Amino acid sequence: MTESAEIGVIGGSGLYALLDHVTETVVDTPYGPPSDSLFLGELDGRRVAFLPRHGREHALPPHRINYRANLWALHALGVRQVLAPCAVGGLRSAHGPGTLLVPDQFVDRTSGRTQTFYDAVPLPDGSVPGVVHVSAADPYCPVGRSAALDAARGEAWEPVDGGTLVVIEGPRFSTRAESRWFSANGWSVVGMTGHPEAVLARELGLCYTSLALVTDLDAGVETGEGVTHTEVLAEFARNVDRLRTVLFSAVARLPKTRDRDCVCSHALDGLTTGLPGVPGEPS
Ligand SMILES: [Zn+2]
Repeated sequence: MTESAEIGVIGGSGLYALLDHVTETVVDTPYGPPSDSLFLGELDGRRVAFLPRHGREHALPPHRINYRANLWALHALGVRQVLAPCAVGGLRSAHGPGTLLVPDQFVDRTSGRTQTFYDAVPLPDGSVPGVVHVSAADPYCPVGRSAALDAARGEAWEPVDGGTLVVIEGPRFSTRAESRWFSANGWSVVGMTGHPEAVLARELGLCYTSLALVTDLDAGVETGEGVTHTEVLAEFARNVDRLRTVLFSAVARLPKTRDRDCVCSHALDGLTTGLPGVPGEPS
């Protein structure tokens, strides 16, 4: 494979539309195809791979995304740091539409999703994944979080620093009772893609940072008809320009791959993964 990148962005096509000289690369993985081709470009001298999480036509619902293939494809290109914007519902009235929150915790309320690379099932090339338990105590990269927060502040978009992202199975939105339960627990926002994306990144030793854009107030904290898909898309579209600006600025603030020294970069230290190319940096 001749194409490579050091930083990955999992997000929609609106986020790389302005880059010059974007090349499209198809990456196959032991887990099947990722959501789409990967789109490679350069930002401030950094090679960045963009991957539309739901496919370029937004045809994949959250529960049908091949998360393992997506993370594997990024890793295979050389990506070691991932920025992951996502649309979320606010669980507090203070986190209204247009809020940018950089979570430091998540709660998994998904069901039935394949959430590990280490399931002891042989890969097509015959390698057998080891029995590996990675730490998820702090599931997001502290360095990536700082980069995202500084980038947002630099654009005068005061972000919410920390908070808990509840990840639900979807594709339906929460009931009012679920939503009230989430907020009563002190959790901040609710989305559908943050798990297993974050833990699969950690299982490959990748840095992963979520940038959660609030598109609506969740059912338990708003008094109207509840969340609609239309308002989610409209609010995301209203914010895509400044989200792209923040992402580009965050990319420039990330350390070089060789300078990584965070919890994520040491997640696999001393472990035998049994996965081809993991751990180990590309030559
Ligand atoms: Zn990290």
